[in-house]
Amino acid sequence: MNTAKTTLPIYLDYASTAPLDPKVRDAMLVLMGNDAFFGNPAATTHRYGWQAQEALEQARMQLAQAIDADPMGVFFTSGATESINLALKGLVWGFKRGLAPNPRGVSDEALPHVITSAAEHKATLDALAYLAAEKCISLTVLKPSEQGIISLEQVVDAVLPETVLVSLLHVNNELGVMNPIAGIGKWCRAQNIWLHVDAVQSMGKTPVSLADWGADLVSFSGHKAYGPKGVGVLYIADALRGALVPLCHGGGQERGLLPGTMPVHQAVGMATAFELAAAQQQEEALKYQTWRDQFLQGLSHLSGWVLHGQGAPCVANILSLGFHDVDGETLMLSLKDIAVSSGSACNSVTLDPSHVLTACGINRELAASTLRLSFGRFSSLEQLQAAAAHICKVVPKIRR
Ligand code: PLP
Repeated sequence: MNTAKTTLPIYLDYASTAPLDPKVRDAMLVLMGNDAFFGNPAATTHRYGWQAQEALEQARMQLAQAIDADPMGVFFTSGATESINLALKGLVWGFKRGLAPNPRGVSDEALPHVITSAAEHKATLDALAYLAAEKCISLTVLKPSEQGIISLEQVVDAVLPETVLVSLLHVNNELGVMNPIAGIGKWCRAQNIWLHVDAVQSMGKTPVSLADWGADLVSFSGHKAYGPKGVGVLYIADALRGALVPLCHGGGQERGLLPGTMPVHQAVGMATAFELAAAQQQEEALKYQTWRDQFLQGLSHLSGWVLHGQGAPCVANILSLGFHDVDGETLMLSLKDIAVSSGSACNSVTLDPSHVLTACGINRELAASTLRLSFGRFSSLEQLQAAAAHICKVVPKIRR
């Protein structure tokens, strides 16, 4: 693991993915041996299957406890992208087929209306754009504030009589800023509007209590919280269980919503990671705030940069820094000692400036010369100080 300050490049891309915690790896290894626990949890006729099923259900309970939610609402997926697609498409299709409750009395002739924001992850934006293109929904995409935030007032103003669903991020993956989810959730509940929250970047960085949010659907990912890649969770509130149409059809696992043999070791890994994240959240958040302050202090020797989202409530471990008068590609190529991402790593297959930054009104040039630095459990103050010094040394050399 990249913890030594001399190991280069210094890993500062935790919002893209975090290394597996050794405790998570150990918990997973127990299930990966050939002598026990390798059974198929759907095999109900022998001990191997029962053991695997017990481990899976134990993981479900452990994970539910970490997010302060009912274990019956926890559905294991292959990652947050699948959770988000299942939440959005599953609910809209379920609504169309009369499976989902219709407490607002939207007529069969009207297109159900969905509200989201232009600062969402592509998994949300593309799933909803697909539903709109298929004429399954009408869609309002709210413009975030300059800081990247959506306010309750914006949601209230956008609501139509046929609005059935609001889908918003809790913590923005590019900026680290936080939407006021608890307030929006409370309001949506009172209006009988379903709320889906993308909480992928929240776990371990800020308190996560589904009991407090009032959200009906919440998406999580294992690998952003020191768990394995390829596993996620969709939390489904009681009222919507049985209301979603599955994306795939098959063996009926996860109560028919996610058919296919369950990867028990992945579920156990994610549950262990979430338990650790919840237990260590407060202590880690305090440490990250100190590191963030010290890092920004280190950058104070440099002029011509901005911290995007500044002033908004945020998690401490994600920083989005825009550098003026610098070519974005040259910046990335020159900063050889740090592993960071330009905008979002999930978008970095395209060279377009980040859709999140441009949605916040940041000009294309500054958006293109923006770096996202994100640190975590296996980072150190020394690494952050070294990163700041490296940036201060490199940027003046490549300034136009
Ligand atoms: N939502 C957010 C906010 C993310 O940051 C990511 C990953 O970058 C995803 C969703 C997709 O997560 P996964 O990699 O588990 O599919």
